[in-house]
Amino acid sequence: AEAQLRQIQKMEAVGQLTGGIAHDFNNMLAVVVGGLELAKRKLHDHAADAERHLDNAMEGANRAAALTRRLLAFARAEPLLPQAVNPDTLVRGMNDLMDRTLGERIRLEVESVAHPWSIWVDRHQLENAILNLAVNARDAMEGEGKLIIRTSNVALAADEVGESLPGDYVRVDVTDTGCGMSREVLDRVFEPFFTTKPVGKGTGLGLSQIFGFVRQSGGEISIASAEGLGTTVSLYLPRHHSGEDADQDSAAPRPEVVE
Ligand code: ADP
Repeated sequence: AEAQLRQIQKMEAVGQLTGGIAHDFNNMLAVVVGGLELAKRKLHDHAADAERHLDNAMEGANRAAALTRRLLAFARAEPLLPQAVNPDTLVRGMNDLMDRTLGERIRLEVESVAHPWSIWVDRHQLENAILNLAVNARDAMEGEGKLIIRTSNVALAADEVGESLPGDYVRVDVTDTGCGMSREVLDRVFEPFFTTKPVGKGTGLGLSQIFGFVRQSGGEISIASAEGLGTTVSLYLPRHHSGEDADQDSAAPRPEVVE
């Protein structure tokens, strides 16, 4: 009976996920189809109108594509390819990407306290995680404010953060001066598909994906937030202990901005 109940709960969860996806997807496709139809009608004598409709359709298609990429990454749980990474170099290497993501009215500050240790993580997924946190921060600040990314070394005790094993970690804090979160939102942010953003904008997969990545990497994540003041998301990533130096190469392919 236990197993049966679990099976039923699983089916319910899958049903909910599928319903959510189908709903979002339908909305995005409606934008695409609508835009194409309008553009077709205006193609001959209203070139500027047609172009606008095509742009809208393109945006709808891009959102749909971003959603599928995220779903795939989520479902597939892409294998991690951990390597020694210098977190400070990695964050600073994302500067241009960050500037483009944040826009001109959000100031970016990057700080490292002392010399961050090397960590043992999948570089690409860490970049994606930081980028996703920056996108969330930008949305919370409605385009204006300050984003601080701060790296520091910490020694955690057992269960000090989440289910942390005792040991050395590099802590990456991503702090924004945005709207903050209510208790109710904070309690649910790691749930897949939980979002407060309008349909088509939020997928509710960002933080759950980051949670999965961090835990799989042997790390932890915590969030401190105050409504009206801002939010700090802290990633704790396990220190890399071998004598090898962290890879300094920051020419790895950049992740795409996925919203
Ligand atoms: P999405 O960004 O697609 O909604 P996430 O899982 O990344 O999905 O975030 C879930 C929700 O958590 C967001 O919809 C938002 O309500 C809240 N949230 C996440 N980051 C922040 C932040 N920096 N400030 C305020 N709210 C946030």
